[in-house]
Amino acid sequence: SVKEYDYLIVGAGLFGSVFAHEMTKLNKKCLVIDKRNHLGGNVYCEEKEGINIHKYGAHIFHTNDQRIWDYVNQFATFNNYINSPMSLSKGKLYNLPFNMNTFYQLWGTRTPEEAKAVIDEQVAKYGTKSPQNLEEQALSLVGKDIYETFIKEYTEKQWGKKATDLPAFIIKRLPVRYTFNNNYFNDRYQGIPIGGYNVIINGLLDGVDTKTGVDFFESRSELEALANNVVYTGKIDEFFEYKYGKLEYRSLRFENELHEIENYQGNAVVNYNDTEYPFTRIIEHKHFEFGKQSKTIITKEYPEAWDQGKEAYYPINNDRNQEIYKRYKEESLKLNHIIFGGRLAEYRYYDMHQIIASSLAQVKEILGLSSNRG
Ligand code: UDP
Repeated sequence: SVKEYDYLIVGAGLFGSVFAHEMTKLNKKCLVIDKRNHLGGNVYCEEKEGINIHKYGAHIFHTNDQRIWDYVNQFATFNNYINSPMSLSKGKLYNLPFNMNTFYQLWGTRTPEEAKAVIDEQVAKYGTKSPQNLEEQALSLVGKDIYETFIKEYTEKQWGKKATDLPAFIIKRLPVRYTFNNNYFNDRYQGIPIGGYNVIINGLLDGVDTKTGVDFFESRSELEALANNVVYTGKIDEFFEYKYGKLEYRSLRFENELHEIENYQGNAVVNYNDTEYPFTRIIEHKHFEFGKQSKTIITKEYPEAWDQGKEAYYPINNDRNQEIYKRYKEESLKLNHIIFGGRLAEYRYYDMHQIIASSLAQVKEILGLSSNRG
């Protein structure tokens, strides 16, 4: 064909960047556009005072998949950061995730047997056979003390709804660990790329044509005319002009503060459970990279209702929205030259390693199709 590009990639986040990188290696011509004035989507970091600020929320890389770990290590060296958040509840600090340290701090229990006895007793007393909402689900998994100390108020802030009005599936998994292990993740590989996530994005997009500050919807037909295929990573409902209705999201507002001290909270992540704090957590960015700067920058994370002008962070995967999404998805499958991928186009909360795997799988699928066609 005579078009300038093989792929127009709408959105320069991880999905689009991995896709562009792989296709460029195969001598396909790619143009990556993004409406923001920078590349990288939500993993983008902004440097201030020598500290990499995770501008769109904290990102901690973790995976169990050796192939994905090797993949990201092509572009950056990872440090040995292990996520071990603290949680502040009614004036006291506790270790997360729920483990033997937490149980000692809560109840003074010293052995797994003692801790398990407390949890089992509370689950028997407050749990139910078939939990109908998030509160019943949590009580049935971890009992009353853990629910009330760490989950109830945090979750109600996060989602803007009573725990009794939230679906149980949000916390299907609530890991309880009977070892003194504060590592939030169970994955084999974990860390923060040295130099920040931009190093990875720049590596992925090295040699790829990119344009920032370009809104796909403002010049859709001209942009689509540039390429044989489109990879679309934005909101799927917006792509179809909301013809089946609007999908809902939860948004966040980040408030940064510069403090003229070296160390504000002694940890990268401190969760704030109690309702009296309107934010859910404070991130102290320098600790992701063991920074020794004389100043520090913290970010308070405020959950917010979402509307058109705000960033869509969390899909709200309730029945109504899933029903709407299904109709868009069916429509999208009819468009052979357009690929929909990533969190917003698939209306699914993804971790970074999952997005990379999904983008690589998409590339592989396309290659399989084209080699079958001969
Ligand atoms: N959560 C909670 N208390 C906490 C941390 C998390 O109740 O201290 C619940 C809450 O419902 C939240 C979910 O666990 O929506 C997932 O939180 P996590 O921090 O693991 O995910 P993230 O928001 O960082 O993607």
